Amino acid sequence: MKSTISRRRLLQKAAAVGGAALAVPGPNAQGQSSRPAAPGRRFRGWVCRGTGPGRTTLQELTLRPIGGRQVVVRTEATNLCYSNASDVLGLPGMFGGPMAQMPLIQGHGGVGVVEAVGPDVRRVQVGDRVCVSGTPQCGNCYQCLRGRADMCQFLGRQGPNDLVPIAEMGDGTPVYASSHIGGLAELMVTFEEWIVPVFTKASAVELGMVCSCVSVAGLGTATSQTLAAVAPGSTAAIVGCGPLGLSAVQGARIAGASKIIAIDPVRARRELALKVGATHALDPNVEGDKLVAKVREMTSTPNNRLWSGGRDSGGLLGGSGADFVIEGVGADRAKPKVEAGPDPTGVLPMRQAYEMCAPGGHVITTSLPAGTISFPAVFFAIGGRTHHAGQAGGANPMRDIPRFVAMLDAGQYDAKALATRVVPIERMLEAYEEVVYRTTVTAIMTA
Ligand SMILES: [Zn+2]
Ligand SMILES: [Zn+2]
Repeated sequence: MKSTISRRRLLQKAAAVGGAALAVPGPNAQGQSSRPAAPGRRFRGWVCRGTGPGRTTLQELTLRPIGGRQVVVRTEATNLCYSNASDVLGLPGMFGGPMAQMPLIQGHGGVGVVEAVGPDVRRVQVGDRVCVSGTPQCGNCYQCLRGRADMCQFLGRQGPNDLVPIAEMGDGTPVYASSHIGGLAELMVTFEEWIVPVFTKASAVELGMVCSCVSVAGLGTATSQTLAAVAPGSTAAIVGCGPLGLSAVQGARIAGASKIIAIDPVRARRELALKVGATHALDPNVEGDKLVAKVREMTSTPNNRLWSGGRDSGGLLGGSGADFVIEGVGADRAKPKVEAGPDPTGVLPMRQAYEMCAPGGHVITTSLPAGTISFPAVFFAIGGRTHHAGQAGGANPMRDIPRFVAMLDAGQYDAKALATRVVPIERMLEAYEEVVYRTTVTAIMTA
């Protein structure tokens, strides 16, 4: 069927969805019928505004009409990501600037059921169960086309001028969805670039866990082909066993690593790592400055005869070390109420991660440390360690998230073990306190 393009219609659509980069309408090649959300649909959402503790309150909201490529998702579950804790709880280090005064629903991910789609949406239909991915994937930008969907250029379109009002408060004040997601609410209003359909009967909590930014990043580092997928029979060290590291441990197990060394200061997390797939666990506080040497010793091969395919730990650059090192520590947003690590900035563990890697091996970093890192230059220049830096562990949402859900459905990925706290929407704040003080591995909010 031939479609007529009217400039006026395009402009109307652009106005409906705001933000220039996101508002470009596309043809509806699939003949997808749109169904507007019920006008005036009411829902509850946690809205952040201002500074300091108390900036986040549960509000009764009214949905605004949608258009273009917008998608309304009825939230089933959202992971309470550690990286969002400062903004939600109003802790020092929260994102300042003009965003602080915008009424914003935090939460950069979630799972749920599509309730309404704009007229240009092709990826999903009303009634589909979906992951609202922390990382968008447009499929058309330079990064998506070069195979780096984790760097999709839409990821950078989340500033104050890119966000569009998705709802309003009782007094008419417009409310925006952080990251175009706003997972801490009963409804998420996003764009189809952030949506991944998932066909599964998994429970809301387990699906919310495996589709969370942290699980996707952890499984991505270990099993996605984008960065450096762990090879069967290889040795792996996972530095930091929060929900991301514990997902990387599981990814390394699923990928068939022969030795998986989990490193974390928190005893409960080391124990959980052993339960979900680690073969060994180390406490960085106990090992101190011997940590790297310890990992090298543990990853030495039984064969050190160099004429027979062996390797040893001698020589200028050292022969042993883990074949794959996955780092997921980052800076503390608050002082933990459990065992603290050796460096609250997260820089030391990142440096150790690099140094414990074998020559010819791969280091994959995922965290948000604070400060500057330095290495001996020769070691860095010719030591043979390849560093992979990726967003979301390099995961390509449309390709990898359905695969991660399949791992859950096949019983390979243990989501339940990681969701150590599950709360209804009303109790989101108390669960976030547990997340930021690390007394729980992570928490899932159900709506
Ligand atoms: Zn996150
Ligand atoms: Zn893209």
